[in-house]
Amino acid sequence: MSEATGPSSISDFHESLRSRSTTVEQVVSSYLERMALSRSLCAYLSEFAGQSLERARELDECLSREGLDRLLERSPLFGVPVAIKDNIHVRGERTTCASRFLENYRAPFDATCVARLRDSGAVFLGKTNLDEFAMGGSGENSAFGPTAHPLQKERVPGGSSSGSAVAVAADLALAALGSDTGGSIRLPASFCGIAGLKPTYGRVSRFGLVAFGSSLDQVGPMARNVSDLAGIYRAIEGHDPRDATSARIAPSGSGPSLSSEGRPLRIGVPAEFFVEGLDPEVKSTIDRVLERLRASGATLVPLSLPNLVHSIPVYYVIATAEASSNLSRYDGVRFGVRSEAAMQAESLEAFYEEARALFGREVKRRILLGSFVLSAGYHDAYYRKACQVRRLIAEEFTRAFEQVDVIAGPVAPGTAFRRGALERSPLQMYLNDLYTIPANLAGLPALSVPIGADSTGLPIGLQLIGRPFDENGLLQAGLDVEALR
Ligand code: GLN
Repeated sequence: MSEATGPSSISDFHESLRSRSTTVEQVVSSYLERMALSRSLCAYLSEFAGQSLERARELDECLSREGLDRLLERSPLFGVPVAIKDNIHVRGERTTCASRFLENYRAPFDATCVARLRDSGAVFLGKTNLDEFAMGGSGENSAFGPTAHPLQKERVPGGSSSGSAVAVAADLALAALGSDTGGSIRLPASFCGIAGLKPTYGRVSRFGLVAFGSSLDQVGPMARNVSDLAGIYRAIEGHDPRDATSARIAPSGSGPSLSSEGRPLRIGVPAEFFVEGLDPEVKSTIDRVLERLRASGATLVPLSLPNLVHSIPVYYVIATAEASSNLSRYDGVRFGVRSEAAMQAESLEAFYEEARALFGREVKRRILLGSFVLSAGYHDAYYRKACQVRRLIAEEFTRAFEQVDVIAGPVAPGTAFRRGALERSPLQMYLNDLYTIPANLAGLPALSVPIGADSTGLPIGLQLIGRPFDENGLLQAGLDVEALR
């Protein structure tokens, strides 16, 4: 027997296990049924039907032996059905990165974040769709078909973690993992009306995440509310010796939060976040929320971060440079599909040309751009310059955080746009990342929390950016915003 809808939160789910009104197996099988009925959304690229049910039955046995509360002490995510973005390794399963190139690639090991979720008791439902190699902001760049918005099918769900956002929003998973290089967790979370967190760079291990822009990439949780986000985040955070950029810093655990410091929250509001091009409905919704936060005791501090205007060019130089270097390993020999045409090639050059023809348009564009900005003669003018300006942006944030606890603004200039609307203009597409990119460039934690909808019912998110490694404070501020609703 299955239910038409899943639990509304992790605590709701655990409550129903505690009261024995359901079992892990029943909940997992109802997710699997909804997934099978919702394939037109193209949220999942693979579904783990057999193994997730088997795992659910094992967990139900543990439950009957030990009781939930004892299990939760060592497995805080006991039984929680989770979806994983298909650029993160789950041992033995495919990791396609939504690319023809890796269509047949199977992961030989678990990503650290996946192993940690497993140890915390989570059940994996499947792997979710994305823009190819996480390059994109709409969910349209997948080689296996665009992900649809759950509310209005002709709209995009946002990307690149499109399938993870849709899985959570359409009740096809209780929570999900995404990755965020320039906004890929926060943008789709905001378009789909769910919560998403990009942790501080170095906070969550990147081991087992397929690299895009290595100095920017972070794995993070996507969920229905901020408490669930915190629950998933706590399971995956912490130092990992297998990722050289993983921070050696104590996990945030359940340490003190901003509000418990007894000081009213100081919220920075940068002028550069409320510029021309911001949808008036998004702006007025954010203004209302900020006003209510002020009324409930927070201080609003106007800020100016003048270097933010350079974020997009800086990001698209650095991210493409790193991508061109990271993707050079896909040479047609070592990973993934061996193209027939390549095997017939008569020279090495022709071999690469055929092999790499399997990449989609956007991936090729990034490789070309990245190789250009790194090439002799242009390296100093583009790549080095971009790294310098990145530093200035980070320093501006450091100064701002002397005055404020969090910084608030939009996640995106508008709500979910129509599919195909920006197809012909990569630049227009890149402009959507205006508000999310700065946190990646500065390595700061940032989250998107739902605050309302526009007049057509499309969700609007608020972005909050925190101090480095202050995920606790950031999540607490997210809870405060959520409590206003
Ligand atoms: N939209 C941005 C890009 O296309 C960000 C992608 C991401 O965060 N993975 O690069």
